[in-house]
Amino acid sequence: MTGRPERARLAPAPPSRFRLPRRSSGVLDQGERELALGHARALIEAPTAPYCEDGPYALVEEFARSHPGFELERDEHANLLVTWKGTRKRAKSEPLLALSAHLDHPAFHYAGKRGGRHQARLAGGVPARFLPGARLRFFEAGGESEALATARIARVLRTADESVRVELEHFAGRARRGMFGVFDLPSGTIRGGRLHARVCDDLMGAAAILSTLQMCARAGIERPLLGIFTRAEETGFVGCLGLLKSGALPAGTQVVGLECSPRRSTARVGRGPVIRVGDKQSIFDPELTLELEEAARTLTERVPGFRFQRALMDGGSCESTAYNHFGTRAAAVCLALGNYHNCGPDGRIAPEFVGWDDYEGLVALLFELARGSGKASPRAKIEARLQRIWEREYNLLSTSSRRLRRGEKR
Ligand SMILES: [Zn+2]
Repeated sequence: MTGRPERARLAPAPPSRFRLPRRSSGVLDQGERELALGHARALIEAPTAPYCEDGPYALVEEFARSHPGFELERDEHANLLVTWKGTRKRAKSEPLLALSAHLDHPAFHYAGKRGGRHQARLAGGVPARFLPGARLRFFEAGGESEALATARIARVLRTADESVRVELEHFAGRARRGMFGVFDLPSGTIRGGRLHARVCDDLMGAAAILSTLQMCARAGIERPLLGIFTRAEETGFVGCLGLLKSGALPAGTQVVGLECSPRRSTARVGRGPVIRVGDKQSIFDPELTLELEEAARTLTERVPGFRFQRALMDGGSCESTAYNHFGTRAAAVCLALGNYHNCGPDGRIAPEFVGWDDYEGLVALLFELARGSGKASPRAKIEARLQRIWEREYNLLSTSSRRLRRGEKR
């Protein structure tokens, strides 16, 4: 007998459906919508896990290589930096604008057999009570894109450390050390104005960056724009911490961190992208946040279909906290996310979801920010507004203060 060993027959992956909603909010034209869909689809179809971001990683590299005008850099921790070089040179005093998103999502690392049973270790935050019964599909990191195995989580094992280990049942296919398992959910289905996907967080952020970079190139935007694609965010911003410690970012870089963040009563799915003023751990750079608001207002005036929200997204932490902590000024924008980390409403693992128009709005907002409206800086605007109030009210304050201070002496 010759030839390759026969492939294990696995149950097919659940089907996906990628079709743009017919009704458009009008924030992107048809070509831009298709471009934004193309990046979203390619990225979310690629299986990913903390430390096993090979699939989306290769797509980002391929994007930078195949489009003229971009520069690709990998830092020592294999975070990816993709720069739209811009059509004019950046003055040294001018900060470099950067958009940042992570390429991983909570998933499992295969952990071998114990007592005759396959086991896997959870990487990322998913509450243990959601796990029993969840189906997994295993892939090889850096290997073929075809799945190696499927299994179901039988039970969650207690461990001495903080890690979560699961025991698997109905294991089919080949087991290989180093393979990773993702929830066996459709990679993406667009339905009723929403995208339901195995991974929204944060491949939709990464897709928004690629779309924005490509739109900058198409429009020949003058100002350079840096796209940062980090790894292992789900295990504690690890890739981002590596990037910041390595000092790979040019001094004065200003980062807008992108996320999919658990929806709140003040930030709903379908109400537009969210200018995120802070997360669970910290609040973000006020000036850069103002710039985002300014871009959002400009867009609202020009495109009636554009809407945005502004909220404290304290359902999770994001890399902007890390950037600010290390002295790189950072603000944030996110998509309000349903079924955060695949936690469905009935206690089961389910696709995450975001509003499709929110995603298109996010791309439009980032592009508006990148191209810069050329108006006065938001800081100058605030200063002018405060000065106007001061001048208008000064006499009243002055006469009343004289009276009150006299009274003080009585
Ligand atoms: Zn995330």
